[in-house]
Amino acid sequence: MALKTAEQYYQSLKDLHPISYILGQKVENSYDHPLIKHMLAGVARTYALAQDPEGREYLVAESKLIGEEVSRFVKFYESRDDLLAKVRMLKFLAQRIGTCFMRCTGMDAMSAVGIEAHNCDKKHGTNYWERLLNFVKHVQKNDLVVFSGVTDVKGDRSLRPSQQKDPDMYLHVVDKNGDGIVVRGAKIHQTGSLCAHWGLIVPAREMREADKDYAVCFAVPVDAEGVVHIYGRGTLEARELEDVDLGNIEYSKFAPMVIFKDVFVPWDYVFLCGEYEFAGPMVRNFGNYHRHSHGGCKCGVGDVLIGAAAAAAEYNGLPNVSHINAKLVEMIKTCEAMYGCSIAASVEAKPTESGIYMVDPVLSNTSKLYEGKELHEVTRLMIEIAGGMVADVPSDKDFQNPEIGPLLQKYLKGVEGVSTEDRVRLFRLIEKLAFESRDIVSNIHGAGSPETHKMAILRNADIESKKKLAKNLAGIKEE
Ligand SMILES: Cc1cc2nc3c(=O)[nH]c(=O)nc-3n(C[C@H](O)[C@H](O)[C@H](O)COP(=O)(O)OP(=O)(O)OC[C@H]3O[C@@H](n4cnc5c(N)ncnc54)[C@H](O)[C@@H]3O)c2cc1C
Repeated sequence: MALKTAEQYYQSLKDLHPISYILGQKVENSYDHPLIKHMLAGVARTYALAQDPEGREYLVAESKLIGEEVSRFVKFYESRDDLLAKVRMLKFLAQRIGTCFMRCTGMDAMSAVGIEAHNCDKKHGTNYWERLLNFVKHVQKNDLVVFSGVTDVKGDRSLRPSQQKDPDMYLHVVDKNGDGIVVRGAKIHQTGSLCAHWGLIVPAREMREADKDYAVCFAVPVDAEGVVHIYGRGTLEARELEDVDLGNIEYSKFAPMVIFKDVFVPWDYVFLCGEYEFAGPMVRNFGNYHRHSHGGCKCGVGDVLIGAAAAAAEYNGLPNVSHINAKLVEMIKTCEAMYGCSIAASVEAKPTESGIYMVDPVLSNTSKLYEGKELHEVTRLMIEIAGGMVADVPSDKDFQNPEIGPLLQKYLKGVEGVSTEDRVRLFRLIEKLAFESRDIVSNIHGAGSPETHKMAILRNADIESKKKLAKNLAGIKEE
């Protein structure tokens, strides 16, 4: 059963019992919680679309590992075509889900870890690559969701992991025996941890010899003993708790904090342990892949923003106004630039010794820089075009009130031929697109802070060779 249906995905969660805390309560079955069900719905939609004739073109791939069709979310990037297909899949899904569907951190981490597991085996004679292949086979055969735990809580940002006053500010190995390792620490902003079956935990930064206990990578079930998920609050969740004023939006994103209270991990699931020189490359690979992913999904969400702005103009009776058209072009320009850079990063990808392809890091990080800065301008333009209604739509309960409902129907009408209800639905969508904190902040900090994107560009752009080009043309001769 390498491809699950949405129903089978929901069923598979019944076997999991993660410890979770939501708004101060320890929750026995988080999957039924009103805040979690909208998150699960987005993931379930990815399963449903893999069964759909149009969706399967984007979502289904052939696995060499198990010789079966698998979800593209659990496949290594083994060619430029795989990378192109990933970006196209993410755009396709984001256009239909309108927010994060929480399966790409694990997908990106698998290939990021794979490259360095292979390199580490070559240098140290370890067998991490084989272990990872076995884990990925299991994930593929069962069509599982994997979240990726990269970001540590980090304490004092100016200090290295081994220099922190509290040694648990970065996740680390606290014990080891013949059977496995014991880890302690906390990973924060873990997109979809409570929608996933497993976590793939990756070091968050480069490490030195003194930090070698922190150079650890492993896979862990979401309900392993000692793993605790703590839900982080978002801006629009009161609507979900009351189950009202959601408009037509079924989907949401979340990113809990995951605490590891001395969690035992068997060796079979350990893919790096102490070989500190591979920690930096592992997280850098992850960053390059994940910024490449954003170019697909954020362009897809951007298409929804553009469509919502254009529809709002139409509903306001302004279907073809020159300043609005100019703004729509600006919005399209930014979204296509993000997408184009991710497409180009796939075309310029290079194979590594593991057989996994690495995207062009300058292009993938350039895509993310556009997102971090310019996507907010796209949101701003959407609000500018839509008008102030985005901020103040009365509640569905007001529309249902017999005294004021008919008045709202009358006064909130826009152009003839469009119902007030449709106009209100559209404004609710725009409100969600503009103000959902997890989406807005992930545009900036998702896949690393903007400074890390700039560092990756500088590290890979080979400024020295560009200086030579300029000096040659200027006729400057150097020894
Ligand atoms: C919605 C959302 C979803 C996310 N999903 C995931 C996920 O699924 N998995 C995951 O692992 N992570 C995830 N992240 C985490 C994300 O990668 C981090 O937020 C990002 O790496 C920044 O880390 P931070 O938030 O700790 O900020 P900080 O690292 O504290 O950065 C704050 C500022 O300080 C600067 N800074 C930090 N350290 C230094 C230094 N030493 N010297 C100089 N300047 C410094 C940064 O450039 C930045 O401007 C997610 C984040 C968000 C917001």
